[in-house]
Amino acid sequence: MGYFGCHLSASGGNLAMVETALSIGANTFAFFTRNPRGSRAKKEDPADCARAVQALQAHNFGKLVAHGAYTMNLCTADPEARSFAADVLCDDLRRMAALPGNFYNFHPGSHVGQGVDAGIDYIAKALRQALAPGYPVTVLLETMAGKGSEIGGKFEQIRAIIDAVGSNDVGVCLDTCHVYDGGYDIVKDLDGVLAEFDRIVGISRLKALHLNDSKNPFASHKDRHECLGEGSLGLETFRHIVNHPLLKDKPMILETPNELPGYQKEIALLRSMAC
Ligand code: ZN
Ligand code: FE
Ligand code: FE
Repeated sequence: MGYFGCHLSASGGNLAMVETALSIGANTFAFFTRNPRGSRAKKEDPADCARAVQALQAHNFGKLVAHGAYTMNLCTADPEARSFAADVLCDDLRRMAALPGNFYNFHPGSHVGQGVDAGIDYIAKALRQALAPGYPVTVLLETMAGKGSEIGGKFEQIRAIIDAVGSNDVGVCLDTCHVYDGGYDIVKDLDGVLAEFDRIVGISRLKALHLNDSKNPFASHKDRHECLGEGSLGLETFRHIVNHPLLKDKPMILETPNELPGYQKEIALLRSMAC
């Protein structure tokens, strides 16, 4: 049946997000664990979390895919900013324990000139620290478009982070806009890209997807999301994705430029394409 959802505003709390998801036909969703362009986090509300957990179970939701703040750059050059980002990661994973068993996805980071290897070392170090307490959450590294000094635009970089962390609690969230912009042709050869992912990262690490069309052509390294069917990926690509045996059971999260009614339509469209 598939798990489809979109990004929802966390401002009303967790139970409110479950209710909003139900109202638009979603059975998974994503939300920012804190202000996506800052670092401020909401006061924790254990009672709200408990009610949300109950509602998620009652309505057979798939795993949620929380998203770390865009500003959390674990491999930034300034040591103070880097240790602040690492603290934010630790705090996010601790908070996620109130919604046990779900995913926490984030952008690996930008090395801002220090080099890919140094960046990967910093990211892995922060992850090892944050994962040490053993919270019930699986961390997902998002595949990136390779814009600027972004790490995660190549499957080899994702693999290097996973190896350096050395934990089974690290998976991958594949963003369709990012990988296509990054030079993996999921339009012409989805099977080939997944085979390459399997060879380099291991398909069992693939835990969730971000479904976005792209405003830009193949391998443009731009990262501008477009509504489904209105960009360079096209609807047929999403039809292949929602029906692909290696992908169809994963939570699929829309990050398209929409408000709720647009998301509702795209979720219905995805469900209608899934056979
Ligand atoms: Zn993202
Ligand atoms: Fe994404
Ligand atoms: Fe993006």
